[in-house]
Amino acid sequence: MSKYRILTDDAKCTGCLRCQLACSQAYQKSFNPSAARVRVDFLGVDCAIRFTEECVACGLCADNCLYGALEKSAEGGA
Ligand code: SF4
Ligand code: SF4
Repeated sequence: MSKYRILTDDAKCTGCLRCQLACSQAYQKSFNPSAARVRVDFLGVDCAIRFTEECVACGLCADNCLYGALEKSAEGGA
């Protein structure tokens, strides 16, 4: 599996949770945001993106972010 550095931009995050749904579907076989390896914490009106220790830097979450809050760069790990 390819490994990417996943770049985050909290300011662009809308809180749509597409990233969490994509990750949980891929690795937990269920649409369960709380089981995702990427997490979006809501701090009032702001979002804070983080990754759990289980993240394998596959880039799938970035592929599913429509707002530019997650971008994958060249190989090298998350
Ligand atoms: S990082 Fe992207 S896909 Fe995930 S909640 Fe934010 S805007 Fe949505
Ligand atoms: S890069 Fe990490 S958080 Fe994103 S889909 Fe892959 S395992 Fe999940």
